Amino acid sequence: MAMACSGHMLVVAKPEPCTHSLTRHSPSNSCKIFSSSLHFLGKDIAPTRRFHASPTKNAPFARRSKLALVAMAKPDPLRIMISGAPASGKGTQCELITKKYGLVHIAAGDLLRAEVAAGSENGKRAKEHMEKGQLVPDEITVMMVKEQLLQSDSLENGWLLDGYPRSLSQATALQEFGLQADLFILLEVPEEILVERVVGRRLDPVTGRIYHLKYSPPETEEIAARLTQRFDDTEEKVKLRLRTHHQNVEAVLSMYKDITIKVNGAAPKEDVFAQIDNALSKLLEQRKVTSGTLAA
Ligand code: AMP
Repeated sequence: MAMACSGHMLVVAKPEPCTHSLTRHSPSNSCKIFSSSLHFLGKDIAPTRRFHASPTKNAPFARRSKLALVAMAKPDPLRIMISGAPASGKGTQCELITKKYGLVHIAAGDLLRAEVAAGSENGKRAKEHMEKGQLVPDEITVMMVKEQLLQSDSLENGWLLDGYPRSLSQATALQEFGLQADLFILLEVPEEILVERVVGRRLDPVTGRIYHLKYSPPETEEIAARLTQRFDDTEEKVKLRLRTHHQNVEAVLSMYKDITIKVNGAAPKEDVFAQIDNALSKLLEQRKVTSGTLAA
């Protein structure tokens, strides 16, 4: 059985008993040829080629089978973490990254806010912590994030994990689940800029767009009238959130020091993205080389 494994993608050329009359078999090939029916994550993929061949046609079989596998081998999807203090620009960068790289965006804060909005027991508990600018307990957050990371679209397309892990225990939990990231992006922004960004930040509930009253004001009176503010986006609460961030960031960084890039998040968003984009394209390039080498 020939097998090419590239991350979660397992491509297997299944041996199939031979039904035709091959006359000169050695015991080792014991009348088995490869069918071209390929298996991807347990599912059959439509066969691309069948080898009902004569001995002479079978001679280049190994090479042809290998070519089929190389053609199917897809580089591992990217698994990226992005971290930074509140209003460091994670949301904006996540939008740009997912647009270009097609990763599944998983934001711990959004998952928690959805739970709060749903009024569930977990949501009620989460809100108590969020209002104090504290981390929501792991028993709520960790399982919520894990569930998203293991969805089939995350596994197939790769993920961009935003605002998780925020503590050593959360990082350890990921490791225990066997979920590893390729890159940890840390956006760094001076504190006085962060407070100003948070206090002026507003959400348009209709389009989901984020505005800033001073730096990115709404285009029309109508939009201005419907803008809402996150309940934890006040000056008092952001200071608590910043303290929580500073208390935890070093511990988290210590787990990812080999894969961390620090980016100046105070720069214009296009410049911030250019740095991230550069790191991601290099990673993808390496991926392509490695998967080509593995499959060949
Ligand atoms: P964010 O939207 O990332 O600013 O997060 C908003 C709030 O959600 C934080 O202040 C925390 O209370 C909570 N939160 C977000 N991510 C996490 C996490 N990984 N662990 C625990 N609490 C979190």
